[in-house]
Amino acid sequence: MSVEAITDTISMIDSPYHGRRGVLGTYLIRGEKSAVIDPGPAPLVPGVIEALEETGVTHLDYVLLTHIHLDHAAGSWKMLEAYPDATIHCHPRGAGHVIDPTRLLAAAREIYGDALKEFGEVRGVPAERVAQSTDGETLDLGGILLETIWTPGHSSHSQSYFEPSSGVVFVGDAAGHYPENKGVLVPGSPPPHNPAKAADSLLKLMSYEPKTIAYSHFGFYGDAMALLERFLVQTRLWDRVARDGVEAGLSLKDIFDLLVEEDPEARELAGIDEEGKRAVYFSLKSFVGYAKWLRKSL
Ligand SMILES: [Zn+2]
Repeated sequence: MSVEAITDTISMIDSPYHGRRGVLGTYLIRGEKSAVIDPGPAPLVPGVIEALEETGVTHLDYVLLTHIHLDHAAGSWKMLEAYPDATIHCHPRGAGHVIDPTRLLAAAREIYGDALKEFGEVRGVPAERVAQSTDGETLDLGGILLETIWTPGHSSHSQSYFEPSSGVVFVGDAAGHYPENKGVLVPGSPPPHNPAKAADSLLKLMSYEPKTIAYSHFGFYGDAMALLERFLVQTRLWDRVARDGVEAGLSLKDIFDLLVEEDPEARELAGIDEEGKRAVYFSLKSFVGYAKWLRKSL
């Protein structure tokens, strides 16, 4: 576990996931009130709590969720157990699944199969401890503000948080994955994924002119606008390749081959190892799924 300061009041916690560092960045924001963004699945939570203790945080007011995918939010129940005054804050489309995760787990089982158990125990939380966000809402932590920005696309329940005095934006998965040991930006998109909404959300994030971008996967970087722009271009490219491929009746394998020809970052990631290749396939499948859905609905 490690804690890295971004500003005097914002830090990133890296709690290992089954021994692996650099998997999920959990962010701590401290005003008179304290908030944690994305505590991760249950196996990460003890490390997050340890980090809070180390930094002198004994009382937590908010568990803020950028979206309710298991790798970001599945351990929320454990945070609420440890911090009896904490409230979860999430998009209204996600709130029901946080309260009763049955359907979410069934959908995740379809995607992850047996690997689902790696996310650890998932429990529902009492409805009265879940606050539903509104778009543009400001949370006042006492001396520090956080604006909620709805950013659908990666999921329908994706939202980002913006801290206006420092210009740090916490994007969850709305601006792609940027694994620090690879330096390659790529979508990390399980189905259902909507690239058109994702692109709109990126433009919306850019309208705030953030200075620092804080990724969930992984780390924080000072060139927020350039990274958002780069991911916008990439999202549009993947969307076009997937749509053209579907239109031409190509197989996923053929569309993959076209994609890695056109996108140097996808090519680089797929070329690193099998895991990189799987990651490109995994997300491309969602772009293709969207293209097929779009074709059917036209
Ligand atoms: Zn996600």
